[in-house]
Amino acid sequence: MRSPKDMRIIQIEVTNACVHQCSNCTRFCGHHKKNFFMDWDTFQKAVKSLEGFDHCIGIMGGEPTLHPQFERFARYLAEQHPLDYPIHTTRKPILNFPRYIRDKNYFGDECLNQCKGVGLWTSVTKQYYKNFELIQDTFSYQSINDHDNPSLHQPLLASRKEMDISDDEWITMRDNCLIQNMWSASITPKGAFFCEVAAALDMLFDGPGGWPIEPDWWKREPKDFGYQLNWCEICGGALFHSGRLSSEEIDDVSPMLYERLKEVGSPKLKAGRVSVMDMSNPQPGQQMPDTKNRYLTDFNERVSRDNSILFPGKIQGIVFCQTGVGIKEKLKKLQRSLDHIIQFATEQEIADKLKSAVTGHEEVIVVSPQLQSFGRTLNKAIEAAGDNWICLMKEHSEIPEGIIERLKSVVINPGVLYSLPGLEEIKLFHPEARALKSACYDGVSQCDSLDMFYNLWSADKQVELEENFDILQNPDLEDWQLLADDADSEHRSQVHQALDKIKKDYEG
Ligand code: SF4
Ligand code: SF4
Repeated sequence: MRSPKDMRIIQIEVTNACVHQCSNCTRFCGHHKKNFFMDWDTFQKAVKSLEGFDHCIGIMGGEPTLHPQFERFARYLAEQHPLDYPIHTTRKPILNFPRYIRDKNYFGDECLNQCKGVGLWTSVTKQYYKNFELIQDTFSYQSINDHDNPSLHQPLLASRKEMDISDDEWITMRDNCLIQNMWSASITPKGAFFCEVAAALDMLFDGPGGWPIEPDWWKREPKDFGYQLNWCEICGGALFHSGRLSSEEIDDVSPMLYERLKEVGSPKLKAGRVSVMDMSNPQPGQQMPDTKNRYLTDFNERVSRDNSILFPGKIQGIVFCQTGVGIKEKLKKLQRSLDHIIQFATEQEIADKLKSAVTGHEEVIVVSPQLQSFGRTLNKAIEAAGDNWICLMKEHSEIPEGIIERLKSVVINPGVLYSLPGLEEIKLFHPEARALKSACYDGVSQCDSLDMFYNLWSADKQVELEENFDILQNPDLEDWQLLADDADSEHRSQVHQALDKIKKDYEG
């Protein structure tokens, strides 16, 4: 056992709601009749209680991005726990996102910031993508795992009392529990805990709660863990070295814990997603790998190849028309690349011309001029595009053959305004961009030209795509080099070594 003060991370559990119900989840997702969502006061208290803890503070769930106040929590935590070297990259296209995040964790969190920052544990959901810009700008460490991969989770709902383990033997086993010795202490709405799994057991079985969330709670030593160690008595954390594929969504539980799940009315048990173990031979599933994280060895597998959430799905075109001349031919070309096309004009006469040209083209919309205002009409066009990436251009612009398909194969940041390679006049953006949310409807309405609209994005969030934007590379290496050169002399060589290692990996 370790004191939380010696841990690399302490978690703040903001919810146990999740889009998954993985096998043997450490938060027992699927077994709760009602999910919790931590309130703002408790979150603030949790962050304040960790003042002086000079390592990573994680936001965890369930799926933390499902919390309605996720953005507020993330910003507050980052403000209260600032980084020595903020790393605001992740703006250029990325072909292999898990690999990029592995590099960013290693370079930015581990070496540059010496593991002092804010972390996010997420299963890369639609909400993650919705918050992509915020997450990349705020979290120095990300543990991403969509669990649609070969992750192995060991059983946790079992008691050593159902196995032939003597008290002496047990104390040694418990104190060597790999989870407590490698993972984290945590804070839930019910208090602070020496172990994240103990915290989740307390939540599931309506336990007495944790220690008060007050300054220095995390300085307790194992000798002070007291009543919280009772949770180890009904936990498989120290008992098993094998696990089941998380994606099977079945929990392996002992007969005693099966009864306890029945008592709390577990929906997952009612749905038949629980398998009762034979406690005379209880090492179900496959042997856990003997690696640092024990459940998934290959970082590249953390987001499955079938997970399309991070990639631009549809790309809609918005075309600003000032003449309407030759629009039929232009539309034919644009339709070869874009999913839908929205045209707008500020003059009614031109809009009428456009409307007559698109009769019969269901995938083309013409937005009527709004009070002859460029900004108001653009607002309407953006609204018509829905929650999709938008390619914005003037009527004479031509999209190079194949480029839209190439863009759909890379991860691009919804907070960034991109220009197509060598084509300053064609821009790509997402309606979720912070630049647009901050400007709000009125900010866009006040724009009287495309240039004014583009300037809603700060200069560092405007990126011109390079010709070879979709090759396997780490596109941030040059920016990271500048950060490495800036690092204080004590850590500079370590940071440069990390960078060299990442560069070599790509060369190999
Ligand atoms: S993604 Fe799976 S393991 Fe993670 S919290 Fe959700 S159910 Fe649990
Ligand atoms: S046995 Fe369970 S509750 Fe106890 S330290 Fe290990 S994981 Fe935590």
